[in-house]
Amino acid sequence: MDEIMQKDIQTLKERRTRRNSSLGNHFAKASPALVRNPFGKASLCAFLKNLSTKLKKASLTVEAAMVLPLFFLTMVTMISFMDLYKLQTEHLSKLCQNAKDAGMYAYAVSGGTEEITLPDVYSYKPVAGIIPLPAKWNYNSVKVHAWTGASWEETSDPNESPEKMVYVTASGTVYHKSLDCSHLKLSVSRISGSEVSSKRNDSGEKYYACESCSKGQKPGSYVYITKSGNRFHNDRTCSGLKRTVRLVKESKAANLSVCKRCG
Ligand SMILES: [Zn+2]
Ligand SMILES: [Zn+2]
Repeated sequence: MDEIMQKDIQTLKERRTRRNSSLGNHFAKASPALVRNPFGKASLCAFLKNLSTKLKKASLTVEAAMVLPLFFLTMVTMISFMDLYKLQTEHLSKLCQNAKDAGMYAYAVSGGTEEITLPDVYSYKPVAGIIPLPAKWNYNSVKVHAWTGASWEETSDPNESPEKMVYVTASGTVYHKSLDCSHLKLSVSRISGSEVSSKRNDSGEKYYACESCSKGQKPGSYVYITKSGNRFHNDRTCSGLKRTVRLVKESKAANLSVCKRCG
């Protein structure tokens, strides 16, 4: 026990001496006369080292003091620009919408103008900074053509009747004058494959294998037929069972012959 006690006392003593010496060093930093090396002599070197550390710290403070306001100033400037841009965009989009509306209602005014010009004036006051800046006035205007329609006479001969439109399919070799043509209106029905040989279409024709989906094939367990066609299809998605009808000018369909059913 005594040994442990003595050891503890020894450690406490050591600690005290260490603290004292560190305190001594702290005071020693105050002046070159007091800066002493372990041998008790004043050291200029230590003082210079100490001074340079202090100067470094000070230069950091000065730098921060100068750079921070500059940074904030830049940020405020950038935010101001964004704010101004937002305001301008809002005003312009609103002005455009209003001009469009005005153009739409212009037909109601008999003998109204051909063009409508809407002005817009608004002010922008920058975000308050060190120097209060005066508000800036912005002027904007939007011009639209009134929705009064176009005159037909200008673009084509009034005596000339508009060209006839006809219907064509993507794969067809004929054009149709009526959209109600049975060639265009397909009613696909599914029958069992064994029935197909006995079936006849609306014109009393037999059903043969479709060239695009069932070439050289025998009818499957189920086949697809149409009342107007004379082909059976093993594939429901066959293009022969689909009609994508397009409306084209008659002159564009000159290379096709007219449909015998509706033409
Ligand atoms: Zn037709
Ligand atoms: Zn087919």
